[in-house]
Amino acid sequence: MKFSGWGLTNRADARLVTISDAPTFAKALKNASNLTPAIPRGNGRAYGDQALSDTVWSSRRLDHILDFNERTGVVTVEAGVTLGELQAIFMPRGFALPVTPGTQFVTVGGAIANDVHGKNHHSHGTIGEHITAIELMRTDGTLLSLSKLWHRDLFAATIGGLGLTGFIVSASIKLKKVAGPWIDAESLSFGSLDEFWSLTQESSSNEYTVSWLDIKRNAVRGIFNRGDDSTDNPDRPAPSDRSVSVPFTPPIGFINGLTVGALAEGYWQLGKRGLGRTVAHYKPFFYPLDAIKHWNRAYGPRGFYQHQALIPADAAREGLEALVAAVRNSSERSAVSVLKTTGKRKRPGLLTYPIEGVTLALDFANRGDSTRKLLKRLDEITTEFGGRVNPSKDAAMSQETFAASFGEDAIRKFNKQRDPGISSAQSKRLLGK
Ligand SMILES: Cc1cc2nc3c(=O)[nH]c(=O)nc-3n(C[C@H](O)[C@H](O)[C@H](O)COP(=O)(O)OP(=O)(O)OC[C@H]3O[C@@H](n4cnc5c(N)ncnc54)[C@H](O)[C@@H]3O)c2cc1C
Repeated sequence: MKFSGWGLTNRADARLVTISDAPTFAKALKNASNLTPAIPRGNGRAYGDQALSDTVWSSRRLDHILDFNERTGVVTVEAGVTLGELQAIFMPRGFALPVTPGTQFVTVGGAIANDVHGKNHHSHGTIGEHITAIELMRTDGTLLSLSKLWHRDLFAATIGGLGLTGFIVSASIKLKKVAGPWIDAESLSFGSLDEFWSLTQESSSNEYTVSWLDIKRNAVRGIFNRGDDSTDNPDRPAPSDRSVSVPFTPPIGFINGLTVGALAEGYWQLGKRGLGRTVAHYKPFFYPLDAIKHWNRAYGPRGFYQHQALIPADAAREGLEALVAAVRNSSERSAVSVLKTTGKRKRPGLLTYPIEGVTLALDFANRGDSTRKLLKRLDEITTEFGGRVNPSKDAAMSQETFAASFGEDAIRKFNKQRDPGISSAQSKRLLGK
């Protein structure tokens, strides 16, 4: 079958092996020599070549909820359950995921493998902070139970482990209590990065913050969103799940140099209309992009790159200015740019991405060499400021950028925990094997 990452820039033919239960998988691993090398795959939302290899083990049939303890809020689920499915089942019972990324179409296995963060990193950290146990299948056919007490080094390597330490069969997650599915939300506009920083400071007590940024030739502007779980559960209808879709990949992308300015203007006008306070349903608040299914196809057959840079707190203002200036001075324009701040939290995984600082995620239509030249420049700026590039969004960073991002020592410790039967196109690019 043909597989790609969400950005559609990396494609590969791979043999698909669907995993439907652990005992059969273990037996097959012990008896069949042609099941490896392979890479686990969830719902294909990583942008680049992370879930690509000659053989792909899909978790999508591991879709059962195994246990739920109403008293502790700990749910044990198979790895192919999506975060959206969990939210839909548990929100009505007064529980929610403590951390969720910007799309609900991510599996539990995929969320752990990139130790995902959301709009509340400063208050709830990454998903790994809330994982109490993992069942991991190694390619020798052994099923291991990992936690902070059992196989703790392998546990820490598997959280944010890019799929390279084994196949996550199931995991236990501690959910948080909520009154209902509503968020007390507020949107404000800003006209400069200084204003963005003032709003950030002013919003330090809000659980969620995220901003959309428009990088114009001579200025920036944006919409700052903040919110908190509502303590009320008003009896009002949830928004309909009907969504529009980009049904196929058009031969020429809709999002290109000619349309990107108009797209940003449209988004700005829409954002301005929504300024002020509101009670928002969690779906449009957490997952605004999910309203358009397969929106990645709008970039056309060449796809697009996302670059997410994290600049540490002590260099955040300067680093952010430098990244924005690099985009302005290039021939590329970012179609969607998102700013998030990250807090001082524990890093549960050896390769957990967030440290305290600010992240800037930029989406660029793939125009070939000129786009990759800009990505390289953004990598350089990020590491010059002591920052890191997000591997879940990456399709093009070099081994040197990865090493500068995560540090040789962490990478050495991580390599010791890797499963020798697992590799991906990304691992070959970033780790040499
Ligand atoms: C619109 C959009 C918004 C996003 N927003 C955010 C965000 O706010 N924050 C954030 O942190 N990320 C974000 N992401 C990135 C996304 O959360 C991650 O890439 C996530 O890992 C994708 O999960 P998946 O199930 O699609 O996995 P895939 O893309 O299929 O795989 C991703 C990685 O997980 C590994 N993996 C998958 N299943 C297993 C398993 N069972 N066992 C072991 N390894 C496994 C794969 O080998 C691969 O390394 C976003 C992505 C999109 C498309």
